[in-house]
Amino acid sequence: NHFLSDRINNMATSATLAMAAKTRELKAQGRDIIGLSLGEPDFNVPDFIKEAAIEAIHDNYSSYSPVDGYADLKQAITEKFKRDNNLTYSSNQIVVSTGAKQSLANVALVMINPGDEVILPAPYWVSYSDIVKIAEGVPVEVPTSIDTDFKMTPSQLEAAITPKTKMLWFSSPCNPSGSVYSREELEALAVVLRKHPNIFVVSDEIYEHINFTTSGHVSIAEIDGMYERTITVNGVSKAFAMTGWRIGYIGAPEWIAKACTKMQGQITSGANSIAQRATIAAVKAPVSSIKFMIDEFHKRRDLVLELLGEIEGFKLNVPEGAFYVFPNIEYFFGKTLRGRLINTAADFSMYLLEEANVATVTGEAFGNDNCIRISYAASEVELREAMKRIKESLS
Ligand code: PLP
Repeated sequence: NHFLSDRINNMATSATLAMAAKTRELKAQGRDIIGLSLGEPDFNVPDFIKEAAIEAIHDNYSSYSPVDGYADLKQAITEKFKRDNNLTYSSNQIVVSTGAKQSLANVALVMINPGDEVILPAPYWVSYSDIVKIAEGVPVEVPTSIDTDFKMTPSQLEAAITPKTKMLWFSSPCNPSGSVYSREELEALAVVLRKHPNIFVVSDEIYEHINFTTSGHVSIAEIDGMYERTITVNGVSKAFAMTGWRIGYIGAPEWIAKACTKMQGQITSGANSIAQRATIAAVKAPVSSIKFMIDEFHKRRDLVLELLGEIEGFKLNVPEGAFYVFPNIEYFFGKTLRGRLINTAADFSMYLLEEANVATVTGEAFGNDNCIRISYAASEVELREAMKRIKESLS
């Protein structure tokens, strides 16, 4: 529609949300679809968090909160950063927002000028490139492959840097690849970044707890020379199964936090008051209180890898975190399955939806068109059934 802005006309619709909508539509028609397209834990919110929300309602937390979040929530977040990430932020370096997605949008809008380049190791989370474009920045994709476990190497980073590079955005554990950068790998990237002090880093750590490595999660802000130019993004959607509660936050240099507060002061006035109160309970809770979810994701990852491994044509790495597998399915390109020619990952994902009744997401949405993303945030029964259907549809 030419009455709409170029900004919206040029924007892609979130591919994951589009697939979810298509799944709902087919389900409404009576089709028995197993949805493995969404990045959403299938657990309930832990009771102690629900209780905190109910209490907040009774205690009349019903007016506007401070724009950057309640003081005691920000305090609790500083303690969380210290406890889990060895990062010392003070409360004036914290901004609470309506989901990590808004945290990212704030950062883009306050840091990026038109034409500034933002390096995105691909595959990257689907919204990064469009958020960067909203801010009139230029996403610069650095393709990685399954052979390097979908991680960007220091030389790839170095080669992508130009005089216009303003930022690097990445997630570890990564959505969609599940890759986890080790301390050594982050240190090697920091060696390159230290040579370019004008480049800022967005470290999206929303999956930090869903990490199956023995060495655990490492925040890049903890590495020498990085704290002053890293925005650490996190939230409660994934770790506490609170996707709909919409709370995310950043820890950042104070001048960046202040700018983000100014930005959201004009856009949302701050995050939902009840969800903020509940988030205090969430971030204060010991990680042991959510360990059952992490253990369950770990088991499911192993199950899905085992079952997919039995299907010819799926090339797999071992994702070390988050709750996705990102198989390379190039093997099927150029083949005709049940009368359908498969040329792209989108064709393949659509084939699985139509022929196997399993919803996945094409890798194209994440900047990698040889792969599809399968979420294993579903029950074991559903996962077994889905893998069986996929196998049958391809045999
Ligand atoms: N970052 C990554 C890597 C994600 O996968 C997601 C959700 O899918 C988000 C951020 C957004 O999280 P929130 O629900 O807090 O907006």
